[in-house]
Amino acid sequence: MSGPGKRDDALVCGDTIRKTYSMGAEEIHALDGVSFRICRGEFLSIMGPSGSGKSTLMNLLGALDQPTSGILEIAGDNIGAMTSDQLAGLRNRSIGFVFQQFNLLKRTTALENVKLPMLYARERPADLNAAAKEALDLVGLSDRLDHHPAQLSGGQQQRVAIARALVNHPQILLADEPTGALDSETSREIMQLFADLNKGGVTVIIVTHESEIADWTRRVIRLRDGLIIADERKQEPLHVVS
Ligand code: ADP
Repeated sequence: MSGPGKRDDALVCGDTIRKTYSMGAEEIHALDGVSFRICRGEFLSIMGPSGSGKSTLMNLLGALDQPTSGILEIAGDNIGAMTSDQLAGLRNRSIGFVFQQFNLLKRTTALENVKLPMLYARERPADLNAAAKEALDLVGLSDRLDHHPAQLSGGQQQRVAIARALVNHPQILLADEPTGALDSETSREIMQLFADLNKGGVTVIIVTHESEIADWTRRVIRLRDGLIIADERKQEPLHVVS
């Protein structure tokens, strides 16, 4: 596919993206013509006040929704031109999701929770247990494989959710307020984990309204009223990762 995404190592490429909702006679421009480029290996946060368009952008970056106009390419695919099955395939292959409330299955062990995305994958590893254990090992939970969510702390539950997000080796890890339900010490531990994963090559995009969380990332995109009002890159994030 030709397009701006092919010019460099861009993983996500947005060109004049608009997302408009109709509410009766009124049109709401949740995104009002934003352009951006996100490269492989970036560690990025998206900030903005309530109503600024963060969730709308998150849904687009997660291939959960399509722009009203403009071009959005993710991993070389043109999101606006895809069927819902194609979008589901792209999500399963290329995007790992992490949510504020962890969204784990309650009656299911950590290991089984992490195995789930592989059940929907077109190409599955031969040994699902081994692949799930490897992902749980990566987040430091090798000793909690058979625990149910209720037997785990909030931080541990979020680690299980991150392992689940990683198990299909996605190109992008997309986290929506991932520390919103955690205390500040646990939040730091989870951000350290994202920083370590990013150092290992994972592209991490975090939506947050907390500047303490954005301080961990190397780039901050700020939204207001559906527009990008700032796009800051830092030499080193505030928390330098050893
Ligand atoms: P944020 O996540 O920054 O709070 P949103 O992306 O949720 O912002 O919303 C941006 C704007 O779009 C808001 O004015 C919101 O009310 C509106 N909006 C979001 N989703 C919908 C929808 N499904 N239908 C109508 N308006 C919506």
